[in-house]
Amino acid sequence: MINIAIDGPGGAGKSTVAREAAERMGLHYVDTGAMYRGLGYYLLSRGVDISREDEVEKAVASLDVQVTYTDEGQQVWVEGENMTPYIRTPEAGDASSRTAVYGCVRERLLQLQRDLAACYDVIMDGRDIGTNILPQADLKVYLTADPRERGRRRYREFLEKGRTDVDLEQIIEDIRRRDERDMNRAIAPLCQAEDARLLDTTHMTREEVVDQLCRWIAPLQKKEKEE
Ligand code: C5P
Repeated sequence: MINIAIDGPGGAGKSTVAREAAERMGLHYVDTGAMYRGLGYYLLSRGVDISREDEVEKAVASLDVQVTYTDEGQQVWVEGENMTPYIRTPEAGDASSRTAVYGCVRERLLQLQRDLAACYDVIMDGRDIGTNILPQADLKVYLTADPRERGRRRYREFLEKGRTDVDLEQIIEDIRRRDERDMNRAIAPLCQAEDARLLDTTHMTREEVVDQLCRWIAPLQKKEKEE
């Protein structure tokens, strides 16, 4: 099995480049942020007070969370409901990072993520993949970019999806707040694994980032074939 871990802050373009590199190299792309978004947004939409850990813990204990893969990519299901159409919004982003600080939420998703990596050759992206979920990954990449550039990328994504009620400065502010929360939480905070390669994409095009990832992945696949 080949396991590739890509971590980094929000808006660095991890999912886009990880998906493209996975397609090019014939690997399975696993988006763990989408799992946190699906679960966080589900809790929010069901009226759970997500500022209270005890309330979240009670709700999460009995929840059925599943992930499937179709032609349209990864789908996240909570209690039999496909959450995927609702998760790419600022609200779901906020709900995910507020609930991702809780141990009960992280525990719920950890096994699901490890099971996927045991079944498939994966490129898995998130915040704690190289440090916590797949510490033995064959390749670890820490992908980042300047916060303003990340804000601009997120902003363009929202506009492309037809959202006109978003404000660039507000998005940059949200990104900084989310970085702060992700990097400073007590459990599995976002940080670069010691053995991860740093890729700063501020001045790189999407193509260049995908090319770089594929250049790192190709020798691993060659080695696995030879073994
Ligand atoms: O990557 P994305 O923006 O979709 O992730 C949403 C949120 O989920 C992040 O801000 C982070 O708080 C949380 N997350 C996490 N661990 C992961 C993936 C995402 O805590 N492995």
